[in-house]
Order: sequence, then structure tokens, then C-alpha cells
Amino acid sequence: MIKTILVTGGTGYIGSHTVLDLIKNGYRVVILDDFSNSSPKVLEQLEKLAGESISLYNVDLKDAKQVEAVFAAEEIDAVINFAGYKAVGESVEQPLKYYENNLIGLINLVKAMQEFAVKKLIFSSSATVYGQPEIMPLKESDPIGNVTNPYGRTKLIIEEILTDICAANEDFGVVTLRYFNPLGADESGEIGEDPNGIPNNLAPYITQVAIGKLEKLSVFGGDYPTEDGTCIRDYVHVADLAAGHTKALDYLFQDNQGYEIFNLGSGVGYSVYQIIDNFEKVVGRPIPYQVVGRRAGDIPVSYAAIDKAKAVLNWSPTKDIGIMCADTWRWQQKHPNGFQD
Ligand code: NAD
Ligand code: UDP
Repeated sequence: MIKTILVTGGTGYIGSHTVLDLIKNGYRVVILDDFSNSSPKVLEQLEKLAGESISLYNVDLKDAKQVEAVFAAEEIDAVINFAGYKAVGESVEQPLKYYENNLIGLINLVKAMQEFAVKKLIFSSSATVYGQPEIMPLKESDPIGNVTNPYGRTKLIIEEILTDICAANEDFGVVTLRYFNPLGADESGEIGEDPNGIPNNLAPYITQVAIGKLEKLSVFGGDYPTEDGTCIRDYVHVADLAAGHTKALDYLFQDNQGYEIFNLGSGVGYSVYQIIDNFEKVVGRPIPYQVVGRRAGDIPVSYAAIDKAKAVLNWSPTKDIGIMCADTWRWQQKHPNGFQD
């Protein structure tokens, strides 16, 4: 029987790519999103790419009654929870907004799941939960904590809430996926990351410089203890990340209960300069940049051990850094103003 997956935040960057992958793999998808950080146009694009219509509920997870109504209207087999606010800087300025949205949203969702006997959940966590680690690569069993901002703390708190829920409910199955740095876009160039205003993250900033919307990139720190002095991160193609969710669902449907955590990254680190080089290759001209001071809270190096996801989920990343940059650039060129084009 076809399984129905509720995807909260399904019109966002990672959610939209996951919706496509789920449909490709034979799942039926129901999206719940309040468009607080996405465009209704994403649904149109997804329906075109998937070649079928997709149910969407314009619902805020903070509204418990409306969340329950979605569960009452649909026969849901499992939930993937992408919905949440994610801007680190904004979370420092408006912590309550982050605690309210991310925590109350999660609590309302799990309460509705319990009421309607839905027992499988995938949660989007982040490498940020590892705090300020010094030993690489990062393993799921490494210590967590010591995060520097409220956004990261919402992820830590939710991981703890989910651990407690699994301990108290033996028939519950929860997979937490800790993402490293998502990059890229669907190969069609019709969906991708569409940040509001000036991007905070490296890749969208670079492509907006490349297309002439921004003057030059600021490289945050050139004096880190790395080979070229810039920070090293683990970039993973968003389509590979999406496939990780489908694999995690398959795992939950194999009747695996309890609480499990998996890193999703490529397992390889690239410096900011190496990312600029790779974008210059696909764009075909230099990306103007200047080195400025370090950004508060940045750690020098972060990359994942991905052995656990490979062994247990049978998941491996397939798209290298060149493809990640080429796909990001295709999306930027086809949609210079994101979903407004
Ligand atoms: P995104 O902002 O593009 O997508 C999140 C979606 O959730 C948006 O469509 C937004 O409208 C929706 N949403 C937010 N609050 C909601 C609410 N209360 N009710 C209903 N919908 C709501 O973000 P993304 O990059 O796709 O990230 C998805 C998840 O992965 C987030 O939880 C994020 O914290 C996590 N994550 C992202 C990254 C990253 O670098 N993008 C890294 C690690 C973890
Ligand atoms: N970065 C940068 N300039 C920017 C944005 C990011 O030099 O305009 C660097 C940042 O210091 C980090 C890397 O690029 O080392 C990735 O940053 P991003 O914000 O994309 O992701 P993070 O790793 O912080 O989650």
C-alpha cells in the first residue's frame, strides 16, 4: 500500500527537494507549511517536476487545532519535520521567536502524532549541535552542547525531547538527521535555495555576486589554523540530503523503533577559498572577494563521519563539489530573483 508522508516545511529549501525524492520513490506526500520562509510558487514547480498534484495545508505548526485538523483529514503514516526558523543571527536578536516557533511547533506536531497513532518521525537537526569540537571527523556519538546561539539550542533541546519521547513510548521510531552544509539545487534548475534579502550563507552569497546582484563576497577570516587560512566545512548536495530522508523513512518502515541519529554530510571538508575556486570554474569568471574579520561563533573546521548512515541507512552522497556548484549556478541563472521569476 502507498504510504503517506506529512512533510512540514515542505516548500522550504531542503523540504522541497525531499518532497521530489519521496514522490520519485513511490511515497504520497502531504505538505504542511505556513510560507513564513517560502513561496507558494514552490508548490507549482514541484507539481510540474513531479508530474502530479500535491496536497498542501497552509498551516502554522504553532496552531495546535489546525495541526490536528490535518491529521484528521489525512491518513498519515510518517512525518518529516523540516518546519522551523533557521537564521542564526536573527535567533540571537529574537530568541523567543525561535524558541516559540521551533519548540512549540515540534510539541504540537508530536502531540497530534500521538493522538492519531502516527509513530514514525524524522527530525532536521544540524551539525551545530556539536558546539566547538576539536577532533574531526564528527561522529554521532561525540559530545554535543556548548552551542553559541538560540537557533542551535532549539536543535539541542528538541533532540533531548525526542530522546525522552522514545524512552517513554516503546513503539515510537524517531530518526534525527544532523545536516552539515547543504549546497546545490535540483538539476532542473527549477527549485533551489531562495533566501530573503542579503544571504547569510556562503553559496547564495557567491552566486548573487556572480550574477551581479551583490558587489563582492566578504570572506570571514583568513587567519584560521587551516592550510589556506579560511574555514573548512562539509558541503553536501541537497539532492543527496533529500535521498537521506527517503532512506531514513525506509529504515523506519522496516519496523525500527527507538531513537537514532545520523550525520548527513559528504565526509569531506572544503575551505572557503576552495568553494570560491569551484564556483569560478562553473561561472567562468572570477568571483570578487575581500578578506574581512572572523564571524562570531564560526569554528575553524567541521566535517562529518558518515559511516553510520552508509552502514545502517545504505545511504551515500553521489554528487561532488563540482556538481553542487554547477547546480547552484544553474538555479541562480534560471531564477535570478528566486521564486519571483
Ligand atoms: P527553509 O526555511 O527553507 O524551510 C523551512 C520551511 O518551514 C519554510 O518553508 C517555512 O515557511 C516553514 N516553516 C517555518 N516555521 C513554520 C511553522 N511554524 N509552521 C509551518 N511551516 C513553518 O529551511 P531549510 O534550509 O529547508 O531547512 C529545513 C530544516 O533543516 C530546518 O529545521 C533547519 O533548521 C534545518 N537545517 C537547515 C540547514 C541549512 O543549512 N539549510 C542546516 C541544518 C539544519
Ligand atoms: N562565509 C564567508 N562569507 C559569507 C558567508 C559565509 O566567508 O558571506 C564562511 C563562513 O565563515 C563559514 C563558511 O563560509 O566558514 C560557511 O558558512 P555558512 O554561513 O554558509 O554555513 P555555516 O557553516 O556557518 O553553517
